[in-house]
Amino acid sequence: MRPQTIWRSFSLLRHTARYTPVISRAIQTASSRPIPNFAFAFDIDGVLLRASKPIPGAADSLALLKEQGIPFILLTNGGGKHETERVAEISEKLQVPLDPTHIVQSHSPFAELVKGTDEASSLEHKCVLVAGGDGDNCRRVAEQYGFRNVVTPGDILMANSAIWPFSKNFSDYYKTFARPLPKPIDLNDPLKSLKIDAIFVFNDPRDWALDTQVIMDLLLSSQGRMGSLSEKNGRIDLPNHGYQQDGQPHLYFSNPDLWWAAAYPLPRLGQGGFREALEGVWAATTGGPSKGIELKKTVIGKPYQPTYEFAERQMLRNRMKTFGDSADFPPLQRVYMVGDNPESDIRGANSYRSAFGSSWHSILVRTGVYRGGEPAWTPQTIADNVHKAVQWALESSKWPAA
Ligand SMILES: [Mg+2]
Repeated sequence: MRPQTIWRSFSLLRHTARYTPVISRAIQTASSRPIPNFAFAFDIDGVLLRASKPIPGAADSLALLKEQGIPFILLTNGGGKHETERVAEISEKLQVPLDPTHIVQSHSPFAELVKGTDEASSLEHKCVLVAGGDGDNCRRVAEQYGFRNVVTPGDILMANSAIWPFSKNFSDYYKTFARPLPKPIDLNDPLKSLKIDAIFVFNDPRDWALDTQVIMDLLLSSQGRMGSLSEKNGRIDLPNHGYQQDGQPHLYFSNPDLWWAAAYPLPRLGQGGFREALEGVWAATTGGPSKGIELKKTVIGKPYQPTYEFAERQMLRNRMKTFGDSADFPPLQRVYMVGDNPESDIRGANSYRSAFGSSWHSILVRTGVYRGGEPAWTPQTIADNVHKAVQWALESSKWPAA
């Protein structure tokens, strides 16, 4: 059966109840069908949804892949909610049942830092700052990942409003979720003050100024103690002129996207915009790259290798769960990455080097950030929308084989 025929019959199956007997035959056929040696990774915003509304053809595409037993994962730089909650919303919007193993968000790989690689690197019982997202949704996500001791910039502001006086205008908002600090900020004796061991920017900050101030305070502190200032800052005899050389918390960012597609007709500044702003403040404070001083940090999310690796591991676990693990098990050879953002989706797929032997094929769609012309990163294929992307990929992989 040619892919076009699959689409036609699938459309009938999906939309016409009286074709129920045909569905059972299709399922039987699916169970005896060879295991596909390919899979899909879909970006969400601008590919499946736009401003929370389904993009035409998206639901049918995912439902078809499910029906055909072809694995896929949603690989998004979005976040701010737990995977369970996010996937439930997408299932509802697209009317396609999905479970949390179908999605990797920008902050999903942070979950691996709870236990770390060993006891010394584990952050489970350390105090971490989580910035970004609505209210303290991201704190609750971090707690669901297993972090036991999570503080937000709002908690710090409500404990000591002098830390950023301009945010007291928003105290009605902060008091809806702020919690008491696990330890006070002791300005008289910073050695006794609240100590932060890692900083995570989980999602777009809602209050860039407060978050910038709190993060800068920690980056310039001694040992991550609130209210302290490292004496090493600016010492030219030390690496990085002494900056971030005094046990300050490591800084992690998810989602490097500078722009994203929302309801407004022009792209909107994303979480990457916040990082660039913070880098600017850091450079102005320390001297920055012109003096050889960098902001040491880890950035995850598309287009970076660790995120693609994390997604592929998840995809391989899903395949094993679906198809089992036998000698005949065909390895995953190709992953079609369908995205709307050349800077993240396409760049990431083009530069990813799989440790598991797969090759990633980038497909750029025109339903989101990309609006035509020469993309900043050249995709292997351009398709008008996700439906056409899937159709093209199925033909390219000569599916179905039987
Ligand atoms: Mg997108």
